[in-house]
Amino acid sequence: MLCIECGKREAKYDGLCEECFLKKVKFTSLPKHLDMTICPHCHAVKFGGHWESVPLEDALFRLVDRSIEFLHEYDSYELHISHGDIEGEFPVEARIDVHFKDIHAEEVHYITADIHYESCPRCNRFFGNYFEAIIQLRGMRENEVQEILNFVYERIEHHARKNENLFLTKEVEKREGWDLYLSDKREAKKIAREVCARYGASLKESPQLAGRKDGRDLYRVTYAVRLPDYRVGDIVEVEGNYLLVEDISGTFVKGINIEDGRKKSVDSKKHPVNLVVRRDEIEKAIVVYSRDGTVELLDRNNNIIDTKVEFEVRDGSTVRIARIGDDVYVLPE
Ligand SMILES: [Zn+2]
Ligand SMILES: [Zn+2]
Repeated sequence: MLCIECGKREAKYDGLCEECFLKKVKFTSLPKHLDMTICPHCHAVKFGGHWESVPLEDALFRLVDRSIEFLHEYDSYELHISHGDIEGEFPVEARIDVHFKDIHAEEVHYITADIHYESCPRCNRFFGNYFEAIIQLRGMRENEVQEILNFVYERIEHHARKNENLFLTKEVEKREGWDLYLSDKREAKKIAREVCARYGASLKESPQLAGRKDGRDLYRVTYAVRLPDYRVGDIVEVEGNYLLVEDISGTFVKGINIEDGRKKSVDSKKHPVNLVVRRDEIEKAIVVYSRDGTVELLDRNNNIIDTKVEFEVRDGSTVRIARIGDDVYVLPE
């Protein structure tokens, strides 16, 4: 069968030869004008009914891509765009390579893109000081405040990657710790729990009625995260035993019994754990002489100390010691 248009070449597509087909058929169409809506605060871009934080370059590409209207059947296509600076009104050239059976068609469209600014819902909330939850950090030692805050920031960032409505509204330093105001109470609870798991802190949750919305009560929640008195490296007392704390995870405290060197794990929920010596109060001493479980030490003030030890220590070595009441304990390594 010959081409119905030219009558010379063989008809291949829609009754037309390749040449006539390419002359006659348009695969794509693009509007001459394209609107792009950007949040002036966070630069999120509006796609139909939702907002996304993507680089403007990628956003422009996607907006052009989703505006393509296909006028003919095709197998695949590639879009290439080039454009002026993304601001105000700027020109965009869109080249679409269309593949259909053996045909490769290149179609070029010229568009004028127009930037509009509109505050996104997330920023509307943010700039309205919106919050649903307060995480109260309590019981922190001065030298660890920054580390714990950094951990919380890192967790907020982590969860905000999946939930763009999560942000830190404000943070307030108090005499007793820090108050962090968060926009999402569910995420706040996750983060409060993560702090608890990492630092062995306890969590108390108290909801407060904050008003009504759409006929339902609205609650704000305060998550009080209280760190325990003890830390890894401290010595605590549990049921009459002294433990050098090696690990705290949730309510579990793991350590070494400093009298016999045995490992022990306790649940602080079931057994009260009391701080006895902080890690910065642990001293060093030199072993002058040891025999049969007795040891003579020289402390940093050159005082001689005689004490007992249940494990081997080498003469001349440096050991760590803790003073509890009138007793001096050599700590297992
Ligand atoms: Zn033809
Ligand atoms: Zn925004």
